[in-house]
Amino acid sequence: MYRKESQEARKIARERIEKLFSQAELFTKEGRYDLGRRYVSLARRIGMKVDISVGHRMDYCRNCNVYMIPARTCRVRVRRGRKVIFCLSCGNTSRFPYRRKKRAEG
Ligand SMILES: [Zn+2]
Repeated sequence: MYRKESQEARKIARERIEKLFSQAELFTKEGRYDLGRRYVSLARRIGMKVDISVGHRMDYCRNCNVYMIPARTCRVRVRRGRKVIFCLSCGNTSRFPYRRKKRAEG
């Protein structure tokens, strides 16, 4: 009973997070970075509350919350098997493990 409730809460939270991120993306594409930031920080807050590992870790800057759109708000490089995202807004660099499909490495 208690468990079911929290599962339901998670589901709702996840849906909300998805919505907030898509809003953030839209606003950022329109050049309204601050609005985008507001939606990202809302999504992050919900994610923290219900302990959901947000599947959007690469979609925003962890420093200034700006939504990441390559060539617009960030620059993306792949280096030594890692994805390096450079935020054009605040200059923060985030690194993520980058999984390549198994092919001849080179
Ligand atoms: Zn930033």
